[in-house]
Amino acid sequence: MRKVLILGGTGEARRLAEALAGRCDVVTSLAGRTTAPATLPGRVRTGGFGGAEGLSAYLRAEGIAHLIDATHPYAARMGANAAAAAAETGIPLVRLERPAWLPRDGDDWHCFDTVSDLAARLPSLGQHALITLGGADLAAFRGLAGIRLTVRAIDPPAHLEPGPNVAILLARGPFDLAGECALLSDRGIDVVVSRNAGGTATRPKIDAARELGLPVVMLNRPARPAVPVETEIDSVLRRIGYAPPS
Ligand code: NAP
Repeated sequence: MRKVLILGGTGEARRLAEALAGRCDVVTSLAGRTTAPATLPGRVRTGGFGGAEGLSAYLRAEGIAHLIDATHPYAARMGANAAAAAAETGIPLVRLERPAWLPRDGDDWHCFDTVSDLAARLPSLGQHALITLGGADLAAFRGLAGIRLTVRAIDPPAHLEPGPNVAILLARGPFDLAGECALLSDRGIDVVVSRNAGGTATRPKIDAARELGLPVVMLNRPARPAVPVETEIDSVLRRIGYAPPS
């Protein structure tokens, strides 16, 4: 059986592992950030490889035939390591990535490449921001004057403490449009800060902002090395020589 390594930590990676289960020797690699990750078919390995060199050594030692980078759009370091290791070993790499959201009619997006640039502009765009930036480093928001922050995250953020102008709201998606509209209205939030995660689970806050006429401040996806990219699991399967499940 051919061995396939999926760099995971996303729903897409889990669904790909499910589609490959029983057809090849599938190994999913997790960074180990989550204490209780979802159950995955096939084998699971956990923890960093030790940079691109470590990943190259792993690929060779395990006799991996295909490398699939299905990490989150904002997990840029792992993506860069995957590209470097594939180039070094000659093992074919494909990236599975959910498409980015695109602005729709009526959206008012302000896009930034870095959290610090975004934080610096935020007070000019609203007086109370909903911050939804996942695991991004939020230190740039510390002591930000002239704006209140409601930070929504799965786990308490590491570099931003609650205070008179900072509320922390622990919640896990998926979220729905009615709930997001209520959250923004009830708390008097007038600007939404988001990553361009793509997918449907966290999109409703963007739609709620449009419905309420609020600006969205978007942290752009990080740059990635040029590698073959697919947005659908079936396309990845075809690319590595497996028919999609009927
Ligand atoms: P990152 O900044 O790109 O990666 C940092 C380091 O963590 C990598 O250099 C690598 O260590 C290790 N690592 C990352 N993904 C790994 C994987 N799948 N298997 C083994 N090692 C991995 O990534 P991150 O933003 O910290 O995200 C970590 C994981 O969480 C990813 O698997 C990603 O898919 C998942 N995730 C991230 C986000 C997000 O917002 N960034 C959201 C949902 C899920 P070595 O250099 O030692 O190999």
